Amino acid sequence: MVVKENLQKITSDIVEVCQKVGRDPQEVKVIAVTKYVSIARAQEAIEAGISNIGENRDEGLLEKWETIGRSCTWHFIGSLQSRKVKNIIDHVDYIHSLDRTSLAKEIDKRAAHKIKCFVQVNASGETSKQGLNPSAVVSFIKELHRYPNIEVVGLMTMAPLTTDEQVLRATFSQVKTLQKEVQALQLTYAPCLELSMGMSQDYRMAIEEGATYIRIGTALVGNETKG
Ligand SMILES: *Cc1c(COP(=O)(O)O)cnc(C)c1O
Repeated sequence: MVVKENLQKITSDIVEVCQKVGRDPQEVKVIAVTKYVSIARAQEAIEAGISNIGENRDEGLLEKWETIGRSCTWHFIGSLQSRKVKNIIDHVDYIHSLDRTSLAKEIDKRAAHKIKCFVQVNASGETSKQGLNPSAVVSFIKELHRYPNIEVVGLMTMAPLTTDEQVLRATFSQVKTLQKEVQALQLTYAPCLELSMGMSQDYRMAIEEGATYIRIGTALVGNETKG
């Protein structure tokens, strides 16, 4: 597992896909998802040039934060219980899983400053997935004016577990369409310029459909829990 080589491969994919669809590769940022790997592996990613780290559990994030600290940008990408907000709030730059009013209220209350949030959309409709039904996203975001510490920087989604290209593409493009709807509202607290979508298996297609943050675990830093 050489993180540096993996990152080179992902970076060249970003350039290639962006050329294909006429996007600027600078728009696509890579979040190294380190939930399955050690602190040492996360540090290897930073040495290879990664500046964004993503974790999906509060313990995992805090453990790595202790060692790595402010030398990178921290993304909380997992489902977030309201009672855990206070544990992570001073250690995260972005929260990717805002999907309910009670969570918005808790983030707003605990935050010492504006927190950059992605509203999570369950675009695939799978009941096992977190996130709002696409039809509920606009009204949810309109409600968020009540929480001054919340800034909606974008939308986040997880694609369904499938290799069916049409299904994946439809999922990503639906979220892109929703993003345009939110932008059209012109809410100062919801510029919604970012799209967090694409993981190890599907990031190329997510970039084609407009992703600005791709969240890569296995294909970048590996999975040390799987030997
Ligand atoms: C684990 C995880 C990822 C990365 O998954 P890989 O398939 O290993 O790239 C991305 N996003 C979320 C929300 C995750 O939980």
